[in-house]
Amino acid sequence: MPSARAHDLITVLSGAAITPLAYYACLEFTPIAPDTALACSLWLGGAHLLSGIMFSPDLDIDSAIDNRWGIFFWIWRPYMWLIPHRGFWSHSLVISPLLRLGYFAAVGYGLAFAVVWGLGQLGMTTPAYHREWAAWVQGLIRAHSTETWAFVIGFCTGSAAHTIADWLVTNGNGLLGSYGRRLRQRYRDHDQWRPRHKRRR
Ligand SMILES: [Zn+2]
Repeated sequence: MPSARAHDLITVLSGAAITPLAYYACLEFTPIAPDTALACSLWLGGAHLLSGIMFSPDLDIDSAIDNRWGIFFWIWRPYMWLIPHRGFWSHSLVISPLLRLGYFAAVGYGLAFAVVWGLGQLGMTTPAYHREWAAWVQGLIRAHSTETWAFVIGFCTGSAAHTIADWLVTNGNGLLGSYGRRLRQRYRDHDQWRPRHKRRR
């Protein structure tokens, strides 16, 4: 398993490669205008980086990734408890990034709901922030469906670059011969995995 830093490097390099490729593919194979193609490829590249660096598949363990969320690390605690490490739900190609995106949206919605409900209990009437936020997201998706697709695809490729790197190193014996074996040894505890009782938080 590559280390968090190696994964970051893979994310940045693959993002730098995929962004111009996406631009070229949009111009060549879709009817969209050049300025929309540019916007889409930038959304795709940005989502690729965001997904690989902040929404990495390794959020399923207490690793370097959730530290990046700073004081918001707790957002990923329930996710970490529920999702088994390196399994289908965190390391698959399409389902796992979409699950993390959906989970994040659900936490945001739940928090907004809790604020509205809490203030309501104190006798304060506030706008229904959770519903306003959901409507805003829906409106954004409807108004910019092409860019939304680009974002979702980039979010999946960012996660896939991580998963494929993990696969290559794990299955490196067959795929890469002795080089794979050496890599595997070097990255044995790539994500600083610790048994639960030895974790700090
Ligand atoms: Zn991993």
